[in-house]
Amino acid sequence: MYHITNLNKNLWKICYNFASKSKHMTRITVAKGDGIGPEIMDATLAIIKAAGAKIEIDEIEVGEKVYLSGNTSGISNESWDIIRRNKIFLKAPITTPQGGGYKSLNVTTRKFLGLYANIRPCVSLHPFVDTKHPNMDLVIIRENEEDLYAGIEHQQTDEVVQCLKLISRPGCEKIVRYAFEYAKQYGRKKVTCFTKDNIMKQTDGLFHQVFDEIAKEYPDIENEHWIIDIGAAKLADTPEAFDVIVMPNLYGDVMSDVAAQIAGSVGLAGSANIGEQCAMFEAIHGSAPRRAGQNMANPSGLLQGAIQMLTHIGQADIAEKVQNAWLKTIEDGIHTYDIFKEGTSTKKVGTKEFAQAVIENLGQKPSTLNAVRYATDVQLQLPKYVRKAPSAKNLVGVDLFVHWGGSDPNDLAGKVKKINNAGASLTMITNRGIKVYPDGFPETFCTDHWRCRFKPVEGKHIDKSHIVKLLIEAENNGVDVIKTENLYEFDGKPAFSLGQGQ
Ligand code: NAD
Repeated sequence: MYHITNLNKNLWKICYNFASKSKHMTRITVAKGDGIGPEIMDATLAIIKAAGAKIEIDEIEVGEKVYLSGNTSGISNESWDIIRRNKIFLKAPITTPQGGGYKSLNVTTRKFLGLYANIRPCVSLHPFVDTKHPNMDLVIIRENEEDLYAGIEHQQTDEVVQCLKLISRPGCEKIVRYAFEYAKQYGRKKVTCFTKDNIMKQTDGLFHQVFDEIAKEYPDIENEHWIIDIGAAKLADTPEAFDVIVMPNLYGDVMSDVAAQIAGSVGLAGSANIGEQCAMFEAIHGSAPRRAGQNMANPSGLLQGAIQMLTHIGQADIAEKVQNAWLKTIEDGIHTYDIFKEGTSTKKVGTKEFAQAVIENLGQKPSTLNAVRYATDVQLQLPKYVRKAPSAKNLVGVDLFVHWGGSDPNDLAGKVKKINNAGASLTMITNRGIKVYPDGFPETFCTDHWRCRFKPVEGKHIDKSHIVKLLIEAENNGVDVIKTENLYEFDGKPAFSLGQGQ
């Protein structure tokens, strides 16, 4: 079980606390990564060590060199052993080589280690860092393991490729509960949910439904739901209207970069990836290869990740000292190129000089920005997910997806109807989701990827043997089935989408 400590008014940092470890050296795993990674990691480690961080480091190599040596996962088995043993991982950004075959190490790490919650605070540092949103102070809590990031993709026909979007009830429950518990512990007033459930009624619909269910358990915290498109517009325009925002993986990935950028710079934000056993801390930006090796990059994002790590391992006092020194340095106008502005900034510095300035400010506090105070007495505890009793599941049809190069859906219907058998018959054909048979519009553009829906004939039931029979008949009649999806009712409710226009 991990814990989260209470936080100061400004809620600048997330504080996770392994209180039992606080007095001891903690062994952590460090990866310096690619591009600007080694420079910002050296700067970050120099600062936290100067502040007295009680850490011992095991360094591992991950990223570009490992990928290019022929390891498509970007990490060796020995490195996994070290990460799993130490449980705490501070990682600089890495470069994923262009081209197919290389799996994103960031996504793999989050999923292998069960790091289901990604927490990204985005707070403006007005008037010291230029922003159009001086009152912005929000936290994005992003589901970190599923959604389109399951990475299950297939080419199915000449013209169509598919990416599977997987949303699970445990995934939704864990992240939504995390968001409400976070809000409760940190005195946040409102949790907002972003989804696109007006279109994706099953997947985003489940996320929204779970949000509504869990929100009821927190009557003191305001809750609201926004469709992601207008929510994103509102966030970009009026971020001060939001407090904690929880969302599925892809939206969270995009929106947290937008939020960090409009708060000041992507170079300023860090993130915590938290699981039940392990945690990984990083900057939110990438390896910025064009800036590498020039002593230009802003180390602040990774430093913010490292501060989150320090609070997580029970060194909140060190985290507080570093954060206040960092705020003072920003307030002094000592800025790297990405946030430097004539008139506001006083000195443009490189990565090393910025780190040195923070080190010189250790022990000092900002005077205009809110100094932080990290307490360790309030702890957040999250229940383990408990699987619900299974629903009554009833097979009510099957979609056969067919690769066919013709253009008139009526011709396809004629061909496919030959495989109707006593159990099931063709009821509808869609192309990219829109109904094209029966009664399609000639204006509808069609690709070579068709969904043919089979339902039992009146008064009959369908079982899996009918599906097998359909597939054999399809093969015998030259119908190229590229995949099937069973149609189910759960507890009597249809659990599949209708054809658009149906
Ligand atoms: P990026 O975040 O690396 O850089 C985009 C631009 O933002 C840079 O050109 C630079 O102008 C600016 N920037 C980013 N970080 C900065 C910093 N610390 N200081 C100053 N300026 C900074 O995004 P990208 O160019 O799309 O990606 C480059 C590589 O990073 C890709 O290979 C990508 O896969 C990888 N990446 C890694 C991670 C990660 O390891 N967590 C995250 C995102 C991208």
